[in-house]
Amino acid sequence: MDVDDIRFEIAAARRMLYREGCDSQTAGHVSARAAGEDAFWVTPFQYFDETLPEHVIKVSFDLEVLEGQWVASPAIEFHAALYRARPDIGSVVHHHARHTALVASTGDVVRSYNLLAYLFFDDQALIFDDETGGATEGERIVSAIGGRSVLLMHNHGCVVVGATLQEAAVKAVLLEHAARYHIEAVQVGGKELHDEHRIRRYQAALGRYMVPEMWAAHTRRLRRSDPELFAAIGGAGREGAL
Ligand SMILES: [Zn+2]
Repeated sequence: MDVDDIRFEIAAARRMLYREGCDSQTAGHVSARAAGEDAFWVTPFQYFDETLPEHVIKVSFDLEVLEGQWVASPAIEFHAALYRARPDIGSVVHHHARHTALVASTGDVVRSYNLLAYLFFDDQALIFDDETGGATEGERIVSAIGGRSVLLMHNHGCVVVGATLQEAAVKAVLLEHAARYHIEAVQVGGKELHDEHRIRRYQAALGRYMVPEMWAAHTRRLRRSDPELFAAIGGAGREGAL
């Protein structure tokens, strides 16, 4: 196994989320579509910062464990629903990070008080936990997120999707930072930016440059902070690799 193995990337993403303030107790999940299969790789119940590649399991869209020793959480049903409904999605991240959940508790989405939030402009939806109507959680989440990348869950947390695991993980981290700016800006009388042209210009640049660079930078940081993650793939991984 090497650093580009999806099981390693999922474990690394969990540790990045933890280190960037997205701790979610033993809830929260990171998953990635298994290429060419009606299945996905996902993490079990545990803290984000203890995940190793060997903990990552492969689960069918019917939540049958196909590979790995851990028990699949019934809470990951919405991951399967999203992969089924949106072929563009390669990865799903769900976390309960504090500031993201606080903004969601207000019934609002993360607003443009800081340039990090521009990444999410016009790309967020909000869902209230409403179990009436007979729909499954997966059906409700698929319906609420539509074609967007971010779903804030009222009094709960968020779902962030991406074409790749790296994109979804970095966006999930940046959403939490943007939510903190939102909350603190409101407290000091900060003003939201409403210049859509400027926001969209930044949005494109952040997506093109910042998201991939942040994945690489976080992986370098993990080399120093989480040696057990690299030991799990036989040492330091490829020489010179990120
Ligand atoms: Zn949750």
